[in-house]
Amino acid sequence: MKTFTFHKPTELEEASKLLKNIGQGHLLAGGTDLVTEMKQGVIEPNLLISASDIKDMSGMVWNNSGLTIGSMVTLDEIASDAGIGSRIKSLAEAAISIATPQIRNIATLGGNLCQRPRCWYYRNVRFNCLKKGGEKCFAVGGSDKYNAILGGSSCYIVHPSDSATALVALKAKVEIFRDLQRVSIPIDDFFVGPEVDVARENILEPGDILISVQIPKESMDGKSVYLKAKERQSMDFAIASVAVMVKMEKGLITEAGIAAGGVAPIPWHLSSVEGKLIGYFVEDIDVKAISSEVFADARILGQNGYKLQLVQTYLERALNLVLR
Ligand SMILES: Cc1cc2nc3c(=O)[nH]c(=O)nc-3n(C[C@H](O)[C@H](O)[C@H](O)COP(=O)(O)OP(=O)(O)OC[C@H]3O[C@@H](n4cnc5c(N)ncnc54)[C@H](O)[C@@H]3O)c2cc1C
Ligand code: SF4
Repeated sequence: MKTFTFHKPTELEEASKLLKNIGQGHLLAGGTDLVTEMKQGVIEPNLLISASDIKDMSGMVWNNSGLTIGSMVTLDEIASDAGIGSRIKSLAEAAISIATPQIRNIATLGGNLCQRPRCWYYRNVRFNCLKKGGEKCFAVGGSDKYNAILGGSSCYIVHPSDSATALVALKAKVEIFRDLQRVSIPIDDFFVGPEVDVARENILEPGDILISVQIPKESMDGKSVYLKAKERQSMDFAIASVAVMVKMEKGLITEAGIAAGGVAPIPWHLSSVEGKLIGYFVEDIDVKAISSEVFADARILGQNGYKLQLVQTYLERALNLVLR
């Protein structure tokens, strides 16, 4: 591993300036992905900025507008929080589905949202693929069993984050520190697909820091669920997943949020499904028809066709769980 400089600032300003002014700097949260990438030789930072002492990125705050979760809050804190478990069940289920207890104890929400893809070719230094500045995507025509069936123009990674899928369905916002200012944006606008920039998965530029995630009150206290299909049951990334949030009044659906994971380079917001739920009575909803129609744009590569059936089935199951 290459030698690097290490800083542990206490303020966002200092962390951001250091990251912006020194090339090849990376923010270090729990390190469960970043340090793996360093060991794999995928990245060779000359500077690591630890976020562990930056107070603005820590803690959870409940108030009238919802819940704010600092980006340095660990996945275990989210999975075991009683308020999240009872009011935002899908987020608790997504968090508990991630990795192992040991990893969840140090891995943070911010790191989970900003982790890099697991595509074998990306993680292997011998393949200089498109995402790393090379000329081709090795997954196309190569080993594509775990790659995307939706949204993959030029690069076919699937976004690896379970929490991201749940948060898209919860219509969360993220707060970012950029150019010495705090900016809040919908989480949908945080992630970027390969058609925007093949080299990255989100809008963060050098010096930008994800401060926190806000879950609006409107997305709480309804019914929500996160279902995840894994190849290896002990611990694994999603080969397909679905997050559903629904609110109802006397059988009329008043609010809905739906997203799919493990199938596209970004958490896949199924807003067309939301349109088929909001304003309708539960008994008028044809869950099977909705689930089979919504992935009509899927593009199968060589070995990943099973994902289409899987994500349709999981969407149907998740909708049945919250609507029946
Ligand atoms: C064995 C194993 C199994 C796993 N299984 C799953 C799984 O099933 N589901 C799943 O979702 N994930 C899984 N993961 C990924 C794991 O959840 C991530 O490694 C972890 O969440 C990253 O968090 P971290 O705090 O360790 O981030 P780090 O490793 O410190 O950082 C990851 C990246 O995010 C950037 N970053 C971190 N925080 C911020 C911030 N606040 N602002 C800007 N950039 C930031 C870093 O610079 C770095 O590029 C698994 C990982 C392992 C090792
Ligand atoms: S899917 Fe993306 S990361 Fe994987 S080989 Fe293709 S370009 Fe590289």
